[in-house]
Amino acid sequence: MLRSIILAAARSSRLERLTATAPVSRNVVKRYVAGTDTNDALRTSRELVDSGLKVSLDYLGEDTLTTDQAESTRDEYLKLLSALKTEGLTPATEVSIKLSALGQRFDEELSLSLAEEICTAAADADTTVTVDMEDHTTTDITLDAVGKLRQRFSGTGAVLQSYLRRTEADCREFAVKNSRVRLCKGAYAEPESVAYQNRLEVDRSYVRCVNTLMSGEGYPMLATHDPRLVEIAIDRAKWYDRGPHSFEFQMLYGIRPDEQRRLAEAGYQVRVYVPFGDQWYGYLMRRLAERPANLRFFMQSLKSR
Ligand code: FAD
Repeated sequence: MLRSIILAAARSSRLERLTATAPVSRNVVKRYVAGTDTNDALRTSRELVDSGLKVSLDYLGEDTLTTDQAESTRDEYLKLLSALKTEGLTPATEVSIKLSALGQRFDEELSLSLAEEICTAAADADTTVTVDMEDHTTTDITLDAVGKLRQRFSGTGAVLQSYLRRTEADCREFAVKNSRVRLCKGAYAEPESVAYQNRLEVDRSYVRCVNTLMSGEGYPMLATHDPRLVEIAIDRAKWYDRGPHSFEFQMLYGIRPDEQRRLAEAGYQVRVYVPFGDQWYGYLMRRLAERPANLRFFMQSLKSR
């Protein structure tokens, strides 16, 4: 219930304006967001890469409403990829993009062509792009776009969400040679008709999807902080005779950093998803919805205004 309320608030532009300058919410933001500009992203990537981790950088923004905004998001990624190449941070650092930040909601063709430009720059910088998954109304068009991008840029990653009832079937389709698939639980408020509502069901679906991806021929990217699911993934790697370089774990910046280091030191590949930029509101609200204990600090920041 609380999760649904927070996720509904994630879509409120009034609350977004209210929180933008609240001092305590800034501290909550700092925990999950690397900073506001490319230099912050580069500095954080350097620290993580030097400590043996891989990185996926996300320039924050979603639900873009104009072509200018979409093109300026593209420009930020091009600037970022060029800097990553100059700094020697690729291929350990890749980028994650949201098609809604590139205009998917009002012009699908535009979002695909801007994504292609980003993939071209990523290929020039010797790295890859993963296309984040948003709410279920966009699943088909996003997977379709990933399929088109993969025709030219075979390393383009897809994201599948275990809370969706359709995802097991999608995993079977994506468990093929050369495909890179990030499996996560899913972060949006979804109706029962399309998504499991119960945590146990979401976790069980995650395990079934891990089985499919780990027994297939693609490259699974297991995005979870859930200790039980991490153990199950390690176990399945043994079952299916997969070496530690044939899959990776992914976790979010600021969440379970000790576990990220522990897994890397144990020889697993671990990629940290690092968001940066000033459009942090929707991202932060989804993180609060996952862990309502953080909400207390957030509400204090609003009261103090
Ligand atoms: P949970 O059961 O939520 O958490 C397990 C444990 O992790 C908790 O007990 C707690 O210890 C810790 N934890 C989890 N969340 C938090 C938090 N916010 N603050 C503090 N501790 C926490 N979702 C999408 O819908 N689309 C995407 O494209 C997408 N990309 C992602 C990329 C990466 C690399 C990761 C890690 C997640 C991504 N997600 C995405 C979010 C994902 O769907 C989940 O909402 C999120 O990862 C929480 O699920 P969990 O598997 O960690 O399990």
